[in-house]
Amino acid sequence: MAEACLFCDIASGKLGGPLLYEDDQIVAFADIRPIAPTHILVVPKEHHKTLLDVSSEKDEPLLGRLLAVAGKLAREGLPNEAGCRIVINNGSAAGQTVYHLHIHLLSGRHFAWPPG
Ligand code: 5GP
Ligand code: ZN
Repeated sequence: MAEACLFCDIASGKLGGPLLYEDDQIVAFADIRPIAPTHILVVPKEHHKTLLDVSSEKDEPLLGRLLAVAGKLAREGLPNEAGCRIVINNGSAAGQTVYHLHIHLLSGRHFAWPPG
């Protein structure tokens, strides 16, 4: 049997609240512990543990689509010229806690650089 995965269950509608976006490959939903006024997770329906699982040429369409959807959601939710931050935590040293690839889309406040 496949390993249980929280984001697979949310993406399939088995768990969680309303989806903010859905297409044939991707879903987006609000983070349960937001760290900014807007904190959306953009998630492929297909299970990949990390970005490193999907970094070959055949995965470029999926990775491109993930970024494009994050951009679209940012544009829709933001006043003109407001910024946003798009983050992938890859692996435990980077703070990844859910091992199903996802993009964090953060906006609505200032973000320091470098990140912590
Ligand atoms: P990571 O640390 O892996 O980059 O991000 C995982 C994110 O998933 C965290 O920001 C965390 O708050 C969020 N998260 C964990 N469990 C749930 C959940 O059950 N529902 C939602 N919507 N977000 C979750
Ligand atoms: Zn999964």
